[in-house]
Amino acid sequence: MSTNSPKITIAIDGYSSTGKSTVAKRLAKELNYIYVDTGAMYRAVTLYALQQNYITKKKFDKKSLIKNLSAIKLAFKYNKKLGFAEMFLNGKNIEEAIRSIRVSNFVSPIATVPEVRKYLVKIQRKIGKDKGVVMDGRDIGSVVFPDAELKIFLTADPKIRAERRLLEFQEKGLDADFDIIYNNVVERDEIDSTRADSPLIKVADAIEIDASNINKEEQFQQVLNLAKNTLTKQTS
Ligand code: C5P
Repeated sequence: MSTNSPKITIAIDGYSSTGKSTVAKRLAKELNYIYVDTGAMYRAVTLYALQQNYITKKKFDKKSLIKNLSAIKLAFKYNKKLGFAEMFLNGKNIEEAIRSIRVSNFVSPIATVPEVRKYLVKIQRKIGKDKGVVMDGRDIGSVVFPDAELKIFLTADPKIRAERRLLEFQEKGLDADFDIIYNNVVERDEIDSTRADSPLIKVADAIEIDASNINKEEQFQQVLNLAKNTLTKQTS
């Protein structure tokens, strides 16, 4: 299927912790497509802002962040052992650091800054310019690739999402607290959906999948079927 069909662009958007990355990563592997986790890019900028002290609980020095955006060099490097690309910031592997609750707590305010978005969207469009890409995020179908042949919008009950995220932390042997994760999920949904620039929305041509009562496998099969149908339409 993947070798004969023309390549398409697949946009997977949705709320935090709805399984976007897991499904997108597996779909990209199945289709032999490039996978881009755009959330990782916003997280990388956030880590940089925290390292430089541009953002704390008390202040957010947007001006300095904007001024120094070009000093943020991002790269995805494929890790053969893990089977996916890891995020690098200025030559350093930050894949683990960007998944911390600290970064999660600051990422949505950072993602409201139009200059940050502009900087990252430019990179995202460059990576996806030849199609054959599965990109997940919040604004992929609405802003980054509005002409994507397949747009998927993932939702799920926030409590279920927080429980799943908690389990992920526990499986990694990391300390985690349900309430902290739940509050973070709800707060990010709120900021991401209400910001002025590129808010999280379900565009008219996106297909919604509610992941509340289905498991990872069922979610993947639904997405895979949608991709297969879209690819078949391209060739017919
Ligand atoms: O996907 P993930 O949960 O890792 O994304 C982290 C945060 O990055 C989101 O809560 C959102 O604030 C921001 N983001 C965004 N646009 C994207 C991807 C992520 O604003 N395309």
